[in-house]
Amino acid sequence: MSTADAVNRDEPLSRPAAAVDAEAAVAAQAAAAPEAEPTGPKRIAVIFAHPDDAEFICAGTVARWTSEGHEITYVLLTSGDKGSEDPAVTPEQLVATREAEQRAACTVLGVRDVVFLGFADAMLVPDLNLRRELVRVIRRLQPDVVICQDPTVRWVDQDYLNHPDHRAAGEATLDAIYPAARDRMTFPELLDEGLEPHKVREVYLAGAKDPDVAIDISDHLDTKLRALQAHASQLGDWDPAPMLREWAHETAGRFDNAGEYVEAFKYFKLD
Ligand SMILES: [Zn+2]
Repeated sequence: MSTADAVNRDEPLSRPAAAVDAEAAVAAQAAAAPEAEPTGPKRIAVIFAHPDDAEFICAGTVARWTSEGHEITYVLLTSGDKGSEDPAVTPEQLVATREAEQRAACTVLGVRDVVFLGFADAMLVPDLNLRRELVRVIRRLQPDVVICQDPTVRWVDQDYLNHPDHRAAGEATLDAIYPAARDRMTFPELLDEGLEPHKVREVYLAGAKDPDVAIDISDHLDTKLRALQAHASQLGDWDPAPMLREWAHETAGRFDNAGEYVEAFKYFKLD
Protein backbone atom coordinates (compact mmCIF):
# COMPACT_ATOMS: atom_id res chain seq x y z
CA MET A 1 0.00 0.00 0.00
CA SER A 2 1.03 3.55 -0.12
CA THR A 3 -0.25 6.65 1.52
CA ALA A 4 -1.32 7.71 -1.95
CA ASP A 5 -4.48 5.88 -0.91
CA ALA A 6 -4.93 8.38 1.84
CA VAL A 7 -7.21 11.28 1.28
CA ASN A 8 -7.45 14.41 3.40
CA ARG A 9 -3.75 14.03 4.10
CA ASP A 10 -2.22 16.58 1.80
CA GLU A 11 -0.50 18.50 4.59
CA PRO A 12 3.31 18.28 4.46
CA LEU A 13 5.19 16.27 7.02
CA SER A 14 6.20 18.43 9.93
CA ARG A 15 9.79 19.59 10.07
CA PRO A 16 11.99 17.09 11.94
CA ALA A 17 12.75 18.59 15.32
CA ALA A 18 16.18 17.00 15.53
CA ALA A 19 17.57 18.80 12.50
CA VAL A 20 19.88 21.63 13.53
CA ASP A 21 20.31 23.48 10.24
CA ALA A 22 18.37 24.03 7.05
CA GLU A 23 20.36 21.58 4.96
CA ALA A 24 20.02 18.81 7.55
CA ALA A 25 16.31 19.55 7.87
CA VAL A 26 15.78 19.14 4.13
CA ALA A 27 17.74 15.89 4.08
CA ALA A 28 15.89 14.51 7.08
CA GLN A 29 12.53 15.50 5.64
CA ALA A 30 13.34 13.83 2.32
CA ALA A 31 14.37 10.69 4.14
CA ALA A 32 11.06 10.65 5.99
CA ALA A 33 8.93 11.28 2.90
CA PRO A 34 6.70 8.42 1.76
CA GLU A 35 8.32 8.29 -1.68
CA ALA A 36 11.69 7.66 0.00
CA GLU A 37 10.36 4.60 1.80
CA PRO A 38 11.65 1.22 0.72
CA THR A 39 9.44 -0.20 -1.99
CA GLY A 40 8.34 -3.79 -2.24
CA PRO A 41 6.24 -5.91 0.06
CA LYS A 42 5.63 -4.73 3.59
CA ARG A 43 5.15 -6.94 6.63
CA ILE A 44 1.80 -6.19 8.20
CA ALA A 45 0.38 -7.44 11.52
CA VAL A 46 -3.39 -7.34 12.11
CA ILE A 47 -3.82 -7.46 15.90
CA PHE A 48 -7.37 -7.89 17.21
CA ALA A 49 -9.25 -9.16 20.27
CA HIS A 50 -11.49 -11.84 18.73
CA PRO A 51 -11.92 -14.06 15.68
CA ASP A 52 -14.18 -12.19 13.20
CA ASP A 53 -13.37 -8.65 14.50
CA ALA A 54 -11.02 -7.90 11.63
CA GLU A 55 -13.37 -9.38 9.03
CA PHE A 56 -16.08 -6.90 10.00
CA ILE A 57 -14.02 -3.73 9.98
CA CYS A 58 -10.88 -4.12 7.86
CA ALA A 59 -10.93 -7.31 5.76
CA GLY A 60 -11.44 -5.37 2.52
CA THR A 61 -8.18 -3.57 3.18
CA VAL A 62 -6.50 -6.86 4.12
CA ALA A 63 -7.69 -8.44 0.85
CA ARG A 64 -6.48 -5.45 -1.13
CA TRP A 65 -3.04 -5.44 0.48
CA THR A 66 -2.47 -9.19 0.09
CA SER A 67 -3.47 -8.82 -3.58
CA GLU A 68 -0.78 -6.14 -3.87
CA GLY A 69 1.82 -8.56 -2.53
CA HIS A 70 2.14 -7.50 1.09
CA GLU A 71 2.72 -10.18 3.74
CA ILE A 72 0.01 -10.15 6.40
CA THR A 73 -0.11 -12.06 9.68
CA TYR A 74 -3.11 -12.06 12.01
CA VAL A 75 -2.59 -11.97 15.78
CA LEU A 76 -5.72 -12.85 17.80
CA LEU A 77 -5.52 -12.10 21.50
CA THR A 78 -8.40 -14.44 22.36
CA SER A 79 -10.01 -17.32 20.52
CA GLY A 80 -13.53 -16.15 21.30
CA ASP A 81 -14.38 -18.79 23.89
CA LYS A 82 -17.44 -16.90 25.22
CA GLY A 83 -19.07 -16.41 21.82
CA SER A 84 -21.99 -18.83 22.02
CA GLU A 85 -25.42 -19.03 23.66
CA ASP A 86 -25.60 -22.79 23.07
CA PRO A 87 -25.56 -24.60 26.45
CA ALA A 88 -24.30 -27.77 24.75
CA VAL A 89 -21.09 -26.11 23.55
CA THR A 90 -18.04 -26.07 25.81
CA PRO A 91 -15.44 -23.26 25.71
CA GLU A 92 -12.88 -25.78 24.43
CA GLN A 93 -15.13 -26.79 21.54
CA LEU A 94 -15.79 -23.15 20.76
CA VAL A 95 -12.07 -22.35 20.67
CA ALA A 96 -11.48 -25.15 18.17
CA THR A 97 -14.42 -24.01 16.03
CA ARG A 98 -13.52 -20.34 16.06
CA GLU A 99 -9.81 -20.85 15.40
CA ALA A 100 -10.72 -23.03 12.41
CA GLU A 101 -13.17 -20.38 11.18
CA GLN A 102 -10.51 -17.68 11.52
CA ARG A 103 -7.98 -19.75 9.60
CA ALA A 104 -10.55 -20.34 6.85
CA ALA A 105 -11.30 -16.60 6.67
CA CYS A 106 -7.58 -15.86 6.43
CA THR A 107 -7.20 -18.36 3.61
CA VAL A 108 -9.89 -16.49 1.67
CA LEU A 109 -8.05 -13.21 2.30
CA GLY A 110 -4.59 -14.48 1.39
CA VAL A 111 -3.25 -13.96 4.91
CA ARG A 112 0.00 -15.82 5.45
CA ASP A 113 -0.35 -16.92 9.07
CA VAL A 114 -2.54 -16.63 12.17
CA VAL A 115 -1.18 -16.43 15.70
CA PHE A 116 -3.51 -17.11 18.65
CA LEU A 117 -2.22 -15.75 21.97
CA GLY A 118 -4.82 -17.67 23.98
CA PHE A 119 -6.06 -15.02 26.42
CA ALA A 120 -9.54 -15.60 27.87
CA ASP A 121 -12.41 -13.99 25.95
CA ALA A 122 -14.20 -11.11 27.74
CA MET A 123 -11.38 -10.91 30.31
CA LEU A 124 -8.74 -8.86 28.46
CA VAL A 125 -6.99 -6.26 30.57
CA PRO A 126 -4.36 -3.91 29.10
CA ASP A 127 -1.82 -4.73 31.80
CA LEU A 128 1.94 -5.26 31.64
CA ASN A 129 1.52 -8.99 31.05
CA LEU A 130 -0.56 -8.41 27.90
CA ARG A 131 1.84 -5.67 26.81
CA ARG A 132 4.82 -8.03 27.19
CA GLU A 133 3.11 -10.73 25.11
CA LEU A 134 2.39 -8.20 22.38
CA VAL A 135 5.95 -6.87 22.45
CA ARG A 136 7.13 -10.46 22.13
CA VAL A 137 5.00 -11.10 19.05
CA ILE A 138 5.80 -7.69 17.49
CA ARG A 139 9.53 -8.24 17.92
CA ARG A 140 9.20 -11.74 16.46
CA LEU A 141 7.09 -10.73 13.43
CA GLN A 142 8.85 -7.36 12.90
CA PRO A 143 5.90 -5.72 11.12
CA ASP A 144 6.35 -2.48 9.19
CA VAL A 145 2.63 -1.79 9.65
CA VAL A 146 0.11 -2.70 12.37
CA ILE A 147 -3.68 -2.57 12.09
CA CYS A 148 -5.41 -2.64 15.47
CA GLN A 149 -8.53 -1.48 17.29
CA ASP A 150 -9.22 2.07 18.52
CA PRO A 151 -9.00 2.04 22.34
CA THR A 152 -10.84 5.36 22.61
CA VAL A 153 -14.16 4.07 21.25
CA ARG A 154 -16.34 3.62 24.35
CA TRP A 155 -19.65 3.69 22.50
CA VAL A 156 -21.22 4.45 19.11
CA ASP A 157 -24.45 6.42 18.75
CA GLN A 158 -27.26 5.33 21.10
CA ASP A 159 -27.21 1.62 20.35
CA TYR A 160 -23.68 0.22 20.71
CA LEU A 161 -21.40 -0.16 23.73
CA ASN A 162 -17.96 -1.19 22.52
CA HIS A 163 -16.74 -4.54 23.86
CA PRO A 164 -14.17 -4.05 26.66
CA ASP A 165 -11.84 -6.55 24.93
CA HIS A 166 -11.75 -4.32 21.83
CA ARG A 167 -10.66 -1.33 23.90
CA ALA A 168 -8.14 -3.40 25.87
CA ALA A 169 -6.68 -4.92 22.70
CA GLY A 170 -6.24 -1.51 21.10
CA GLU A 171 -4.71 0.04 24.18
CA ALA A 172 -2.30 -2.81 24.84
CA THR A 173 -1.23 -2.94 21.19
CA LEU A 174 -0.50 0.78 20.97
CA ASP A 175 1.43 0.64 24.25
CA ALA A 176 3.41 -2.34 22.94
CA ILE A 177 4.26 -0.56 19.67
CA TYR A 178 5.35 2.61 21.45
CA PRO A 179 7.56 2.64 23.32
CA ALA A 180 7.96 -0.93 24.59
CA ALA A 181 8.77 -2.87 21.38
CA ARG A 182 11.17 -0.11 20.30
CA ASP A 183 13.14 0.27 23.53
CA ARG A 184 15.97 -2.07 24.39
CA MET A 185 15.69 -1.72 28.15
CA THR A 186 11.98 -2.53 28.36
CA PHE A 187 11.26 -6.21 29.07
CA PRO A 188 14.96 -7.22 29.08
CA GLU A 189 13.89 -10.84 29.41
CA LEU A 190 12.86 -10.68 25.74
CA LEU A 191 16.44 -9.86 24.77
CA ASP A 192 17.41 -13.12 26.41
CA GLU A 193 15.04 -14.83 23.95
CA GLY A 194 16.88 -13.18 21.07
CA LEU A 195 14.08 -10.67 20.43
CA GLU A 196 15.73 -7.40 19.50
CA PRO A 197 13.90 -4.04 19.66
CA HIS A 198 11.66 -3.32 16.68
CA LYS A 199 10.18 -0.07 15.42
CA VAL A 200 6.75 -0.21 13.77
CA ARG A 201 6.59 2.52 11.11
CA GLU A 202 2.85 2.84 10.46
CA VAL A 203 -0.31 2.20 12.50
CA TYR A 204 -3.89 2.03 11.25
CA LEU A 205 -6.69 2.12 13.85
CA ALA A 206 -9.73 0.26 12.52
CA GLY A 207 -13.23 1.20 13.57
CA ALA A 208 -11.77 4.54 14.63
CA LYS A 209 -13.73 7.40 16.12
CA ASP A 210 -11.91 9.99 14.01
CA PRO A 211 -10.74 8.29 10.79
CA ASP A 212 -8.49 10.30 8.52
CA VAL A 213 -7.47 7.75 5.87
CA ALA A 214 -9.77 6.05 3.36
CA ILE A 215 -8.91 2.79 1.64
CA ASP A 216 -10.89 1.99 -1.51
CA ILE A 217 -12.05 -1.63 -1.17
CA SER A 218 -14.49 -1.62 -4.10
CA ASP A 219 -12.59 -4.42 -5.88
CA HIS A 220 -12.26 -6.45 -2.66
CA LEU A 221 -15.65 -6.16 -0.94
CA ASP A 222 -16.80 -9.53 -2.30
CA THR A 223 -13.66 -11.18 -0.88
CA LYS A 224 -14.35 -9.53 2.48
CA LEU A 225 -17.91 -10.90 2.47
CA ARG A 226 -16.68 -14.41 1.59
CA ALA A 227 -14.15 -14.26 4.42
CA LEU A 228 -16.83 -13.20 6.86
CA GLN A 229 -18.98 -16.16 5.84
CA ALA A 230 -16.26 -18.41 7.29
CA HIS A 231 -17.38 -17.32 10.77
CA ALA A 232 -20.49 -19.48 10.58
CA SER A 233 -20.76 -20.02 14.34
CA GLN A 234 -21.23 -16.29 14.82
CA LEU A 235 -23.51 -15.57 11.89
CA GLY A 236 -26.16 -18.28 12.19
CA ASP A 237 -28.79 -17.47 9.58
CA TRP A 238 -27.83 -13.81 9.41
CA ASP A 239 -26.43 -12.52 6.13
CA PRO A 240 -24.28 -9.51 7.03
CA ALA A 241 -23.66 -8.54 3.38
CA PRO A 242 -26.33 -5.81 3.08
CA MET A 243 -25.18 -4.13 6.30
CA LEU A 244 -21.51 -4.27 5.34
CA ARG A 245 -22.17 -2.91 1.85
CA GLU A 246 -24.11 -0.05 3.43
CA TRP A 247 -21.33 0.65 5.96
CA ALA A 248 -18.68 0.73 3.25
CA HIS A 249 -20.80 2.95 1.03
CA GLU A 250 -21.62 5.35 3.87
CA THR A 251 -17.95 5.50 4.83
CA ALA A 252 -17.07 6.37 1.24
CA GLY A 253 -19.45 9.31 1.48
CA ARG A 254 -17.40 10.82 4.30
CA PHE A 255 -14.38 11.35 2.00
CA ASP A 256 -13.91 13.05 -1.34
CA ASN A 257 -13.42 10.75 -4.35
CA ALA A 258 -12.42 7.79 -2.18
CA GLY A 259 -14.25 5.11 -4.18
CA GLU A 260 -17.64 3.42 -4.05
CA TYR A 261 -16.84 1.20 -1.06
CA VAL A 262 -14.36 2.28 1.59
CA GLU A 263 -12.85 1.25 4.91
CA ALA A 264 -11.57 4.17 7.00
CA PHE A 265 -8.80 4.32 9.58
CA LYS A 266 -7.05 6.67 11.95
CA TYR A 267 -3.48 6.70 10.63
CA PHE A 268 -0.12 7.26 12.31
CA LYS A 269 3.32 7.43 10.71
CA LEU A 270 5.85 6.97 13.47
CA ASP A 271 9.10 8.18 11.89
ZN1 LIG B 1 -14.95 -8.67 19.03
